[in-house]
Amino acid sequence: MPQISVTVDGKQLSVEADQRPTHIFAENKEIVVCKINGVLKDLWTDLSEGDVVEGVSISSADGLAVLRHSTAHVMAQAVQEVYANTRLGIGPPIKDGFYYDFDPENTFNPDDLTKIESAMRKIIKEGQRFRRRVTTEAEALKELAHEPYKCELIGIKGPAGEEASVEVGGSELSIYDNLGRDGNPVWSDLCRGPHLPSTKHIPAFKLMRTAAAYWRGSEKNPMLQRIYGTAWPSQDELNAYLELLAEAEKRDHRRLGTELDLFSFPEEIGSGLAVFHPKGGIVRRAMEDYSRIRHEEEGYEFVYSPHITKAALFETSGHLQWYADGMYPPMILDEEYNADGTVKRAGQQYYMKPMNCPFHNLIYKSRGRSYRELPLRLFEFGTVYRYEKSGVLHGITRARGFTQDDAHIYCTKEQMVGELDSLLTFVLNLLRDYGLNDFYLELSTKNDEKFVGEDSDWEEATEALRKAATAQNLELVLDEGGAAFYGPKISVQAKDAIGRTWQMSTIQVDFQLPQRFELEFSATDGTRQRPVMIHRALFGSIERFFGVLTEHYSGAFPPWLAPVQAIGIPVADTFSDYLGDVIKQMRKAGIRAELDASDDRMQKKVRNAQMQKIPFMVIAGEEDQKAGAVSFRYRNGEQKNGIPIADAIAEIKKVVQERTQV
Ligand SMILES: [Zn+2]
Ligand SMILES: [Zn+2]
Repeated sequence: MPQISVTVDGKQLSVEADQRPTHIFAENKEIVVCKINGVLKDLWTDLSEGDVVEGVSISSADGLAVLRHSTAHVMAQAVQEVYANTRLGIGPPIKDGFYYDFDPENTFNPDDLTKIESAMRKIIKEGQRFRRRVTTEAEALKELAHEPYKCELIGIKGPAGEEASVEVGGSELSIYDNLGRDGNPVWSDLCRGPHLPSTKHIPAFKLMRTAAAYWRGSEKNPMLQRIYGTAWPSQDELNAYLELLAEAEKRDHRRLGTELDLFSFPEEIGSGLAVFHPKGGIVRRAMEDYSRIRHEEEGYEFVYSPHITKAALFETSGHLQWYADGMYPPMILDEEYNADGTVKRAGQQYYMKPMNCPFHNLIYKSRGRSYRELPLRLFEFGTVYRYEKSGVLHGITRARGFTQDDAHIYCTKEQMVGELDSLLTFVLNLLRDYGLNDFYLELSTKNDEKFVGEDSDWEEATEALRKAATAQNLELVLDEGGAAFYGPKISVQAKDAIGRTWQMSTIQVDFQLPQRFELEFSATDGTRQRPVMIHRALFGSIERFFGVLTEHYSGAFPPWLAPVQAIGIPVADTFSDYLGDVIKQMRKAGIRAELDASDDRMQKKVRNAQMQKIPFMVIAGEEDQKAGAVSFRYRNGEQKNGIPIADAIAEIKKVVQERTQV
């Protein structure tokens, strides 16, 4: 056998010409796929002289995606074994798992998932090899004549959207055959690959749920059945993931929103549009009040703007050109008619605002501005409306109407570096005050294909953002080329109590809007100059941040945010008057305190207070009353007895003031 020379994980090797990566990496069970000359390939790929080969571990991002996509294949194979007349859609990997879309004869139910799972286990146990076979369009159409959706994909030339490209992207069309024990194909699927070497490399998987999904995401297409699943490099990792999901389910803000009577989404209003109940209103107001105070201290000025505006404003801002899909359709107002019904005067188009920036620019422009006024920091709790697809709506974290804590900062070029630096510090400290402590930063830089403005401005702004980020001593992740076309951005990613990452604040430099709105200021030398504009949302939206905090705290808000900070529970009815008076004193001292004067027994009242996650249970019995004291019972079940009333009030006031958790 002739020898060829290849580089494997940086080392020069001479191997027999028929050796494939699967042989080369045979000793290392972690390696399930490889990169050949930088491109992800099957371990069964033929090698050529001079190839550079890198092993890819199952636990890496690429490895996990290949594991999950391969598991999706096995699921599709199992589905067609169990329900022969099911037609196949697509099956890409997604975050933490995969899905596959099917057109089955009957809708799948939970029992079906169990059946499909056991068919999958059989396929995995058999260790079927995934074999790649290059084909032509004509051959593939013939071979897959019974799979109409696949045939449609074959017809798609060029980039076919992120998900469909898993099936047909790339320069050649390929079909993967699953080989049974005897080496003959038992099942085939149109796919670009790559895959695991064989089905036995799937260590742990689980099917999660079914959902309806339009073929290729369009409402004009047939409705298919999607099955979601997950796959992991070990059973332990799968178990940990399922535990995390169970924990997340317990903390789900939609569920806690109902249990704690915080907010709801009445059918009558429409999806994605929430109402906040009194208790949610208290939390929200406490969030807003504190934010308002901190912004005032930092030199922000508060402004207000209407919810609707004439179309022209969004033409100037460019929203109607680029963002119309995300906006509610226009209202036609002030149309006038002749007696015969014909239009006398055409109406005006009004839109609900998806963003506040254009309004703030008009405030800036309302009169001449001098360099002495800069930086000008305009802040608004601005309610915006975005027509999100119903499929992506998720409680108050992804809604159609929400209130941004939106600020726009106008400054000179010279002020930009200092402004970005102090802005980032302000943002992070404020998030810390709300109880988030674990952050990393993401810097999105210029996409060379698509940008406005001068290269030098981009460099300067990106450098300023990078410097500001580096000064925070936090992990900084580069999102190379990920910036919007109008300027670079830093986003603050926060981890919550169970380790999930949420994108929180964004600091976005904008070279475009000052130009479109012709914003100017007169400089020290009397010339007219253009200000730099920075968009900044700290919470993102109040609703979303509310949802994140609800899940972070699992509904057990720290006292400064808790709707009810203290609840009075008398040991018996006879102590109601005494305790009622204590509660009155607490309320006078500014504490949100209530007396549970219901007919329930004490134990029931304690349980109710626990369910409501109230930070302080204030209990009084005979000894307390004699001593002019109360007892505290905390959320963790600990109890402190005989606290003089004044001390009890002081303790609650202290934790509220310091915004600490108890
Ligand atoms: Zn595939
Ligand atoms: Zn903005």
